[in-house]
Parts: sequence; C-alpha cells; structure tokens
Amino acid sequence: MRSNGVLDARERGAMLSRLATERFDVLVIGGGITGAGAALDAASRGLRVALVEARDLASGTSSRSSKLVHGGLRYLEQFDFKLVYEALRERDLLVSRLAPHLVKPVSFLYPLYKKVVERPYVGAGLVLYDAMEGTRRPVPHHRHLTARGALKLAPALAPARLAGAMLYYDAQVDDARHTLTVARTAAAHSAVVATRVSAVELVRGSDGVRVTGARVRDEESGHEFTVAADSVVVCAGVWTDLVHELAGVRAGYRVRMSKGVHIVVPREAVQADTGMIVRTEKSVLFFIPWGERWIVGTTDTDWSGDRAEPAATEEDIDYILGAANRVLARPLTRADVIAVYAGLRPLVATDDEADPRGPKSDKGSKGGSKGSRGFKPTTKLSREHAVDVPAPGLASIAGGKFTTYRLMARDVVDAAVADFDREVPGSVTDQLPLLGADGLAAVQAGAGRLAEDYGVSRAVVEHLLGRYGTLATEVLDLIRAEPGLARPLADGYPYLRAEVVYAVTHEDALHVEDVLMRRMRLFIESADSGADVAAEVSLIMGRLLGWNRRKRAAETRRYLDLVAAEPTVPAIGPGSARDAALAGATAG
Ligand SMILES: Cc1cc2nc3c(=O)[nH]c(=O)nc-3n(C[C@H](O)[C@H](O)[C@H](O)COP(=O)(O)OP(=O)(O)OC[C@H]3O[C@@H](n4cnc5c(N)ncnc54)[C@H](O)[C@@H]3O)c2cc1C
Repeated sequence: MRSNGVLDARERGAMLSRLATERFDVLVIGGGITGAGAALDAASRGLRVALVEARDLASGTSSRSSKLVHGGLRYLEQFDFKLVYEALRERDLLVSRLAPHLVKPVSFLYPLYKKVVERPYVGAGLVLYDAMEGTRRPVPHHRHLTARGALKLAPALAPARLAGAMLYYDAQVDDARHTLTVARTAAAHSAVVATRVSAVELVRGSDGVRVTGARVRDEESGHEFTVAADSVVVCAGVWTDLVHELAGVRAGYRVRMSKGVHIVVPREAVQADTGMIVRTEKSVLFFIPWGERWIVGTTDTDWSGDRAEPAATEEDIDYILGAANRVLARPLTRADVIAVYAGLRPLVATDDEADPRGPKSDKGSKGGSKGSRGFKPTTKLSREHAVDVPAPGLASIAGGKFTTYRLMARDVVDAAVADFDREVPGSVTDQLPLLGADGLAAVQAGAGRLAEDYGVSRAVVEHLLGRYGTLATEVLDLIRAEPGLARPLADGYPYLRAEVVYAVTHEDALHVEDVLMRRMRLFIESADSGADVAAEVSLIMGRLLGWNRRKRAAETRRYLDLVAAEPTVPAIGPGSARDAALAGATAG
C-alpha cells in the first residue's frame, strides 16, 4: 500500500492509534536524518515500518550541521579515502537524481598563502577529490586561480599575503528540510511517522531475550503504550548510549559528543561571490552562502552537557571570529552576528577513545566542553559509522555524516533484518527520488507559466520550487483557495503564510518552534529569531489545530521563552543586531 507522504498534524490521533495497534517489521527510534533514512530504506523494501521521534523531526543534530553535502576535503589529509569516496558518490547521487530540488552545488574558494608548498599539495588533493567523483559529474571540476582572480571572486579577502587560490565544488542542503522530506518519502511508502513520541523502555519477547518493540510515551499527553515490532533500530545520534541503557545492553562502540558552533552574519558583511574554506590550526573554517546570509564555522570540542541544548560559549564565538578575521580585509565583529547555533556530532569511539567520564544522564554534567584531557581530540576521530546488534531484535547505528545517511540507513536495516525468517529484498534507495524530485526539470522549465496560472510572481514560484520541488504546486493550491496566504510571513524574508499552513497539514508541525526553527529557518536567519512573527504563526496554526485564544497565547509564549532562553544570546553581547531586534519583539 502506498500513501501520499502527507504528515498531517491534524490526524495525529489516528496515527498514534495505528502505532499502538499494528504490528511492525521494524520500529525506528529517532527522527534525525539517520532514522528518517532507515525508515525510508526499510519501507521501500516492502517492510511495515514505524518511526518514533521524541521531539520534532531533525530537532537534534540534523538541523544544526554545516549543511554541506560533501566528501570532506580535510578527511583526505587523514587518509580516510573510503569515507571521502563514498560521500562524493552520495553527493552526486543526491544532486543529480535523488534530491536535486534540495541538494545544490556550491563553489568554495580555498585561498593559498604559501605559494611554493601549498599549491601542489592542495592541487593534488583536489585532483584526487574530483577523480573520486562518479561518472555523472553533476558539479564542475576544480580550478586554479591567481591572487588577482581570487580577489575578483572574493574581494573580502585581505590581499596582503594572498598567493593565489583554488576553486572547487561541493553541495549544500537545508538539513532539516531534507530530513523532513526523507521522512515524508518513507510515509509515502506506508511508514507510520510519529513525532513527540519517546521510546522509554525496550520490550523483550516471551523468551526474555529478543527485543520485540518499545514502550513509548506520547510527549503531548503523557500517555504510554507499547509498539510491537520484529526488530528495533536505534538511530538516536548522541542519545544512542541512553537508548542502549533502556535495553540494558552495551554496544560494541560508544558515542562521543563533539560540539560544533556556527555563527550567521549578513551577506554584505563578507563580500564574495563564492563560498570559502580556510585552514585553521586544527581543522578548517567554512564561509557558506545561505540566502542573504553567511553561515561561518565550525568548532570541534568535546561536550558532556545537555544533549538537547548544546550551548555556544564566548570562546567558541571568539574562535570563529578570530579564524575568519585572519583572512578578511574588513574584520567581522560581534555586532555583525545575527545568530549562533550549536550542534553535537555523534562520533563513534572505541572504549579507548570514548569520553573518559563514561555515559551521562540525559542532562549530562554541568561541565560542558571541558575535560577529556589525554584522549584523542574529536577532530581526529573518524567520521565513519558503526553498526551493531547488541541484542537479538535490536540493531543500532551511530557516527557517519549527513552526506552518507543513505548508506548508513542501508547498513543498519541490513543488520536489523539479517535474522528474519523470510527473504528481505536489498536496499533500493539509490533508485528512489525523494518526494518533490520526480519531474522537477519540467516543472522548473514551466515556472513562468505556473506563476501566471496561480497569479503569483516568478520569484515566489522559484522560492517554492527550491524548498518543495514539484510539491510546490500543493502550496500554490493553498494560495489559490485563499489568496491572502500568498502574503509574506515576515518582511524581508521569502517565506509565505501558505507555508505555515502547509507545515501543519503536510509536514507534521505541532508547535510554533517546529515552523520557525525547522520548516522555515527564521530562527537562525532573522536577527530576532522570528520572535516578531511568533504570534502570527500561532494564529495560523491555531485555526487548523483548533487552538483557543489561551492556547495560542501559550504557544507564542513557549516560542518566545525558547528564544529568550537560547543559550547563545548572552554570548553575542549587548549592541548586537540580534539583541536589538529581540528586545523590540519581546517588548511588543
Ligand atoms: C556542527 C556540525 C556540523 C556538521 N556538518 C556536517 C556537514 O556539513 N555535512 C555532513 O555530511 N555532516 C555534517 N555533520 C554531521 C551530521 O549533521 C550528523 O552526522 C547527522 O545529522 C546525525 O544525524 P542522526 O540522525 O544520527 O542524529 P540526530 O539528528 O541527532 O537524530 C537523533 C534523534 O533521535 C531522537 N531521540 C533520541 N532519543 C530518543 C528516544 N528515546 N525516543 C525517540 N527519539 C529519540 C532525538 O530527538 C533526535 O532527533 C555535522 C555535525 C555537526 C554537529
């Protein structure tokens, strides 16, 4: 049976009752990119699949990455050739076939400062990088640039020591939107996808050995029930060790948390027509074009604090500004910073490499990023993934990269079904375009006519195509039915009111933060984190979800509290564009 991939928040009750009453072949725990990928992989093999996510889809690491779909140039230096090779193949598959509406090529300028040594070294790396690509080559080859050529593309660079540059290509993605689209594609293959449902206990069968499902809690109502499944797949990222504890098992690998911080600055703060990558002492720093902004980062430090709310520190922000300013003619200051976000890499470690303080409770220790002295730095830990079957009926996976999620999903589902007493087909996701990808070229070619037919501007159609692919017509249908929904949600941003409606009716948005943080990215794009439009979003959502005035006010307040509690706010400091905007929004 195929459904249409609609995740309608208004039908959550029916979906929960399916979870409680049906028996599944595979229950996936975790709705980040790995879990969404595993649900899609299993469902598209004809298995009956359920996915439970404790909060919102992509609310963990999968909305807080650098948003690159890349081989990872720096991993060549670590001789991690297999990882780079696989990641580049995945990048090309996503750009050309599986998700061309979401994963788009982006160029990076690599400035060179030591003429004699650096150019042959970096050049050789890029020859290898390009050679590892598949035959399809959806992104161009690298090029050598003179210093003058580099400054033409990136006038922001300080010319003083610049000896030249390389220009190479990778790809970028809205990580949260991609995760959501993978989950919706799984739902289109009949997977039951439930958000704000936590696994609180793993259930064993009558033999007391095999894991046969999970006790789960609906976080909206507190109601608990059991989901029955032949196999449980743990895709819980940095929470993996805690889920293993629920089953009283210990996997053959451990998860070590490494925090990565990014800052967001306006496009005009750094004049360049290309992304940039610069070397730092320990790793690299990216300037990633993001609409009218730059995402600049990242850091890589041990973390042992709260898994749900990793906090950026003054030190993190100073480090990023310092590393950026080493190459910029006009330095970035804190006043340029619109937003800061932090994410946690779920790196796999052997017992020797694991955090010496051992597994922590969900809140972690207060200590944050200090400690782990004497242990391998997180920058040096492999980005490859590890799969384990710590108990019969229980498969788990961690590590890896966003870019390689499809391979990770394939591997963990293979492990989960290995002892099934029936033949399960192999993975087919390399041939399965995500929702919105099929027929994209024709819809893009007809963008002008779509704009005329729906009475909207060409820019609106292009904005929607870039976010929903061919499903853009579903958003346009909402506008046709209610033309007022064509109005922008916030001045100066491309998002429409219709997209808030769509987030509820098709994308399972249950709260204001689901819309402003992940369905659209005002939380990191706008200086006030979207606080100014929270009440409007609550109003639109409330009409669909039956919220009365009190509930609407509570939802708005919940979002404003979240923004105010955002641990990064004080880190930016008074006088920043963000603080001024936020003060205005919360005072109003
Ligand atoms: C700063 C940074 C930059 C990065 N940049 C890149 C990049 O540019 N390119 C790239 O390829 N990779 C990048 N990565 C890596 C990539 O983001 C991660 O590998 C990937 O997002 C991890 O996804 P995940 O699904 O495994 O984990 P998560 O996204 O964290 O998902 C795990 C989910 O499990 C849920 N969960 C936990 N416990 C339970 C439970 N008991 N019941 C139900 N649900 C539960 C959580 O709520 C969470 O949503 C970056 C990572 C970081 C931190």
